[in-house]
Amino acid sequence: MNRSKSEQYYAEALEHIVGGVNSPSRSFKAVGGGAPVFMKRGQGAYFYDEDDNKYIDYLAAYGPIITGHAHPHITKAITEAASNGTLLGTPTVLEIKLAKMLKEAIPSMDKVRFVNSGTEAVMTTIRVARAYTKRNKIIKFAGNYHGHSDLVLVAAGSGPSTLGIPDSAGIPASIAQEVITVPYNDLSGLEEALQKWGHDVAAVMVEPIVGNFGMVMPKPGFLEGLCKLAHDHGALVIYDEVITAFRFHYGSTQTYAGLDNHDLIKPDLTALGKIIGGGLPIGAYGGSKEVMEQVAPLGPAYQAGTMAGNPASISAGIACLEVLSQPGVYEEMERLTIKLTEGIQAAADRHGIPLTINRVRGSFSTHFCDHPVTDYEEAQDTDGEAFASFFQHMLNRGVHLAPSKYEAWFLTTEHTDADIEATIEAADSSFEAMAKEK
Ligand code: PMP
Repeated sequence: MNRSKSEQYYAEALEHIVGGVNSPSRSFKAVGGGAPVFMKRGQGAYFYDEDDNKYIDYLAAYGPIITGHAHPHITKAITEAASNGTLLGTPTVLEIKLAKMLKEAIPSMDKVRFVNSGTEAVMTTIRVARAYTKRNKIIKFAGNYHGHSDLVLVAAGSGPSTLGIPDSAGIPASIAQEVITVPYNDLSGLEEALQKWGHDVAAVMVEPIVGNFGMVMPKPGFLEGLCKLAHDHGALVIYDEVITAFRFHYGSTQTYAGLDNHDLIKPDLTALGKIIGGGLPIGAYGGSKEVMEQVAPLGPAYQAGTMAGNPASISAGIACLEVLSQPGVYEEMERLTIKLTEGIQAAADRHGIPLTINRVRGSFSTHFCDHPVTDYEEAQDTDGEAFASFFQHMLNRGVHLAPSKYEAWFLTTEHTDADIEATIEAADSSFEAMAKEK
């Protein structure tokens, strides 16, 4: 496959943009290096690059593009919003509409506030929790990624881990010491940490279903135990649902049918992003009325945003949720994903390539190992070189994955049976090539 234009553009980009990319996760550093592919456009489930190669896209822009690229309903909503002014700096009725849609789908949110990214949403939930509890520390789980704000960049999963950066430079020790990291899916670590520091823990923050060291479900009882332990120690529970909300069903983890006892896994605050903006920049956070009333102008916790709630992002988000609320949408993505994962697993087995697939409805992760992946250590203990080789083989066969062994594959409403069959064929021939390379 000729990608000479991508190579030229990458060389040029390196001169002007640090690392040639505007998010480190787009770099191919962890998958053998080389030029990331410069895409000209996306349409439905496909990418077209500057050399006019076509790819089936499983990146979905790291999650938001669940309805495929340039979905006509979303494009129309954005065009209409743009023609009425992209940024008014005043409240609009649109914001009420999206807030109501989120509240209906996520019952623990009485009040919502829109921001511009998942990072901002998470960052603010921490401030609100600290303001509410008048405590300082946060407990997080190893390998959970919560955006790039100072406090949560410790042991932070996919992004930094892909590049071998355990903790970011530039974060003062005085800040890092306010976060305690414990293993995911293990209540004993959390219990120990709460026994030691519980009096000063403002919140326990978690990706309730993990999307940042592969897709990993909470073990039965983990979220119930987490909520109980946190609340027994007077700490709030923050769910970071930036990836997970509206990904598996029309709602969040706390209403996901795969998890029981919804009343016992209710967070105090939820951070959102990605899908709820339909492909434009957005974040949101929400929670109980009592906790959210800490936020200015009602309360003492300050958070603001020039671009927050802009009509373009909000309109795209409404349109995206309208598409997702149609009957059968998630069932169809799951049907195709089951077909795809079964096909990939069978192909790997046929060629003797150890592979563990973690699937949650229409998303999954491929771990090159022969053990289960239920926590960060197990996700780290997988064959990064095998993933890199698989990634490059798939790319050359017109299938674009995220360039990290920790990232998930995301299906969209636009993938078809033919795409799935072509992807299984590409995987089969990639594994065949990998087996010969061994
Ligand atoms: N939280 C989670 C769980 C995420 O996956 C991400 C992004 N991958 C973020 C927060 C940060 O979101 P953003 O990139 O929009 O700042």
